[in-house]
Amino acid sequence: MKLIGIINDAVTSLFRKPATIAYPVKNKPVPERYRARLDFNASKCTGCMLCMRDCPTNTIKINVIDRKAKQFVMTYNIGECVYCMQCVFNCRFDALQMTNKCWESASDAKKTFQIYYGKKEHIDFLLANKDQPAVDQSEV
Ligand code: SF4
Ligand code: SF4
Repeated sequence: MKLIGIINDAVTSLFRKPATIAYPVKNKPVPERYRARLDFNASKCTGCMLCMRDCPTNTIKINVIDRKAKQFVMTYNIGECVYCMQCVFNCRFDALQMTNKCWESASDAKKTFQIYYGKKEHIDFLLANKDQPAVDQSEV
């Protein structure tokens, strides 16, 4: 009786849709409201620093290149962020957004977690004056 049950299960499962996916060849779509990574729009930033003030992990930093010319670079570490979105709620100028852009953020290299947002020339200026390794992730 048991053997018949096993055979029955085996045959049925041959025609059943697999419960698993062929990762990493295939991946599930990222949920729309998934909190994966901050986005920064430097052109909207006023340099008020409110986002930095309440960040519980002190991982977000607005670097002022030229306040008058509204030139800012945001540094942010994915590995330190707890995705609370406090910075997004604090920003009254809509310069910060939480996105679902990064589905997988595992890495064995620390520097891949450090992100610089802003115009390339501003990031370059900041790095030239900071003397620290970084990964340039975007140009807004
Ligand atoms: S989401 Fe939270 S932890 Fe991450 S940078 Fe913003 S305030 Fe900081
Ligand atoms: S709260 Fe918004 S406008 Fe103010 S410094 Fe942060 S990102 Fe810029």
